[in-house]
Amino acid sequence: MIKPRKIPLRICLGCSEKKPKRELVRIVRTPQGEVVLDLTGKKAGRGAYICPNSECLKKALKGKRLEKNLQHPLSPGVVDEIIAYLEAQERSEA
Ligand SMILES: [Zn+2]
Repeated sequence: MIKPRKIPLRICLGCSEKKPKRELVRIVRTPQGEVVLDLTGKKAGRGAYICPNSECLKKALKGKRLEKNLQHPLSPGVVDEIIAYLEAQERSEA
């Protein structure tokens, strides 16, 4: 019998739902102490995840959930970068 491959699940900081890692947007606190958007999913550091939609981003930012999870203040511009990315995603799906 072949065992099914385990899909790595991560919790979205917006809606708190568990989803496959590859469906989520990864935000990473790098060892250099920067918080960046990680589109490759391979950057070293502490990661936080949100669904690729602006609602979950808003919820994750509200109450500083993202900052608390990463235990680091967000870098200037990183939120704009995430918003721009999400908008581009939404446009490509429309
Ligand atoms: Zn979500």
